Amino acid sequence: MKVPLLDLKAQYKTIKPEIDAALIRTAESQNLILGQEVEQLEKNLAAYLDCKHAIGVSSGTDALLIALMAIDLKPEDEVILPTYSFFATAGVVSRLNAKPVFIDSDPVTFNLDPEKIKSLITKKTKAIIPVHLYGQSCEMDKIMEIANEYDLKVIEDAAQSIGTQYKDGRKVGNIGHIGCFSFYPSKNLGCFGDGGLVTTNDDTLAEKLRILRVHGGMPKYYHKIIGGNFRIDAIQAAVLNVKLPHLDSWTKRRQENAGLYTKLFTENGLAETEGKLKFDDKNKVLLPEPVYKKYNLKYYHIYNQYVIRVENRDELRK
Ligand SMILES: *Cc1c(COP(=O)(O)O)cnc(C)c1O
Repeated sequence: MKVPLLDLKAQYKTIKPEIDAALIRTAESQNLILGQEVEQLEKNLAAYLDCKHAIGVSSGTDALLIALMAIDLKPEDEVILPTYSFFATAGVVSRLNAKPVFIDSDPVTFNLDPEKIKSLITKKTKAIIPVHLYGQSCEMDKIMEIANEYDLKVIEDAAQSIGTQYKDGRKVGNIGHIGCFSFYPSKNLGCFGDGGLVTTNDDTLAEKLRILRVHGGMPKYYHKIIGGNFRIDAIQAAVLNVKLPHLDSWTKRRQENAGLYTKLFTENGLAETEGKLKFDDKNKVLLPEPVYKKYNLKYYHIYNQYVIRVENRDELRK
């Protein structure tokens, strides 16, 4: 049996009447860019993520880009970020002619190793981008402590981790200076095209992000700074407004599926001891270790992906 990695048609079936109504509502309004649906979405997401400001943008990539523009990243500035992430995390830094400085990842959580940050800081370092990869939070206390000590900005790439809780219960994207999310269809909360979000608890940054989103124009047609077209469409917001109330139950299902995989790998004697870095037996698999499970949080890991490590990948696949 072939199991697809993600079956969006199956998800659509379960919410079809609500989604169809939202699509028609948007078509009939012909209010297509920003507007009421987007404002509603921003309110809903600010409440869901417990943050002061949620600002809808055109994609997760643009969320990262606009965040770096908002902190005034200049050419030659350096940004510390993990080697292991989607291309966009480092791509946006280069696009602003700044320099991505790569930091190695922890082999168990796949997230950046905070112990390695300090040795990479120079006079040019401006920011750190921790990526909460696969649905699990980075070690934010350590990252924020270093950022405060060296006066660096922290831009969280939470594209794969909407709703994930850090060990103190806070939701990721809400811990650094700006949080970035993606609504690309394969993310846990996906729209019907491209979409993204930036979050912040800082009023000044929020205002700047909103202005940058519309070519730096405020009021309209008066451009004091240079931004871009980073707007999200109303149709994407309408879809997301329907999907958001289902997100927690979908996450719960993902966690149940992850639990089932772990149980089956373990029962079949395939699981290597959790957290081990070396394989004693080349035919075993290292299972993803949810680091904050012990804190009894609901959303310690939202499993955007359930990723295992193996020595003999091709053999195992067979
Ligand atoms: C998906 C993703 C992005 C980019 O989001 P898009 O909406 O596809 O532009 C950035 N970072 C990470 C870690 C991602 O997974």
